[in-house]
Amino acid sequence: MLTGVNASDGIGIGKAVVAIEPDLTYKATAHNDPEAERARYQKALDDFCARTQEQADRMAVTVGEEEAQIMAGHIMMAQDPFMMEEVGNRIDSGMGAEQAVDEACEMFSGMFESMEDALMRERAADVKDIRLGLLANLLGKQVVDLSSLQKDSIVVIHDLTPSMTATIDKDHVVGIITETGGRTSHSAIIARALEIPAVLSVENALQKITQGDTCVVDGTKGEITLNPDATALKGYQKIADEVAEAKAALNVFKGKETVTGDGEKRLLVANIGTPEEAINAAEHDAEGVGLFRSEFLFMDASELPSENEQFVAYQKVALRMKDKPVIIRTLDVGGDKEIPYLGLTKEENPFMGNRAVRYCLINADKYKVQLRALLRASAFGDVKIMVPLVTCVEEIRAVKKLVEECKEELRAEGTDFNENIEVGTMMETPAASLIADDLAAECDFFSIGTNDLIGYTMCVDRGNDSVAYLYSVYNPAVLRSIQRIIKAGNDANIMVGMCGEAAADPLLIPLLISFGLDEFSVSAPSILRTRKIISEWKKADADKLAAEIMELKTAAEVKAKLASVVK
Ligand code: PEP
Ligand code: MG
Repeated sequence: MLTGVNASDGIGIGKAVVAIEPDLTYKATAHNDPEAERARYQKALDDFCARTQEQADRMAVTVGEEEAQIMAGHIMMAQDPFMMEEVGNRIDSGMGAEQAVDEACEMFSGMFESMEDALMRERAADVKDIRLGLLANLLGKQVVDLSSLQKDSIVVIHDLTPSMTATIDKDHVVGIITETGGRTSHSAIIARALEIPAVLSVENALQKITQGDTCVVDGTKGEITLNPDATALKGYQKIADEVAEAKAALNVFKGKETVTGDGEKRLLVANIGTPEEAINAAEHDAEGVGLFRSEFLFMDASELPSENEQFVAYQKVALRMKDKPVIIRTLDVGGDKEIPYLGLTKEENPFMGNRAVRYCLINADKYKVQLRALLRASAFGDVKIMVPLVTCVEEIRAVKKLVEECKEELRAEGTDFNENIEVGTMMETPAASLIADDLAAECDFFSIGTNDLIGYTMCVDRGNDSVAYLYSVYNPAVLRSIQRIIKAGNDANIMVGMCGEAAADPLLIPLLISFGLDEFSVSAPSILRTRKIISEWKKADADKLAAEIMELKTAAEVKAKLASVVK
């Protein structure tokens, strides 16, 4: 089995198409006919622009307007007078068109790469894409074209550039495997937008996978199985079919309100990691964002994103969600989330160390950059601030004090923001659970982070396989903790949500309804299924079940009982 980054959910089964990029080497010989070389360059440029426009048009339909804009941007960049002049001057000095294009593109991508602004640095990848297209045209080679693949193809490629993605026919490509890229890379974002299962950053995938290999791409787990035997293949196919059938059946819940069996409204929102995922969330009918893990912005950068870069990202989500609530969690660094340039010192036990809100309060200057960006974005939608890993009242008070300082600064500058922005606490530590009533008095909402709450309550590192048997939300200790947090929030009349994975657990949903959870925040593909299960439970039935469950003594008993009543 091969493993990589689980970048786009689902199981895809098909035959590997190993896409090898064309050899674009050329001979850099001197030329003495600049006219002819200029004409070759102009023709290559015209062909490139025509082909790119076709791709952009196709992409607008298959992927989305925003992604199509990336392609249209390539045309503008390639035809930029400055770029054309750089190529032309080189041709006039005696270079062949290939070398002139190559050197000019190299110069521009180097220029972009050295820029301060992260968004500008990303343009370097676009220039490299243009270089590839122009050189291929000049050399009469085909760039990788993914538009005419056989049905059930799994694309295996070193890196998926935006222009290649544009050509993907999503009816024929059932999986994507790359050797580079993380969850927030272009390839990941577009794979998710296309809903094609994808596993990225698979080491030496091009060597390990052979053309025509049968591949099972599990984009949820980040695993690839090569050439499974007939029995295993049948098993995977069954799972994939069941997933597809169940998904199709859920469409009747699209556009519906999220209500319990007796008509009580619940809020059903999405967990996202990048601004682009907000599009996917909206398409899956999210009623807002319950958790934007802002640390992905920081993990994808090589230095602290500026206030403006952060503002643009938060504003994007706010605008996409219109007036729906958008909860943005402030930097949750440390533990399993490393951000090298922040210079965190190595600790014996990083999960218990200087992380999340602790790091942010010690580094208040850096934290204020994020808080200011969040406040500025709050002028464009219903943005709320959420603080991770809170263990005591002092922390939430200290954050609120910094928020007030930032508001004061913005007021003085005449910058708009929402004066009544809500500040909430992520409830993911046993300490927070024990003082939930005091925390409820200090903040505007709770969101229960079961992923960590389970770990810290059971003293289990969430990534440690040898103690994974203890990592279960069905442990009575965890259930009681969840129940008391919800009760404290309800008693104080603040909204209580859940953004840990447990919010989408079909077995747990009746208990959460009984406990009084107001908001369920789940991954986009889980939205409709969660809406369906919520609709199946009346409060009185959920209460009856919860009363029985809360008498049980072991996680196994709890799970077995829930499994016996929940479909
Ligand atoms: C959680 O801990 O439940 C949570 C949602 O946050 P993360 O998984 O990012 O730690
Ligand atoms: Mg957490």
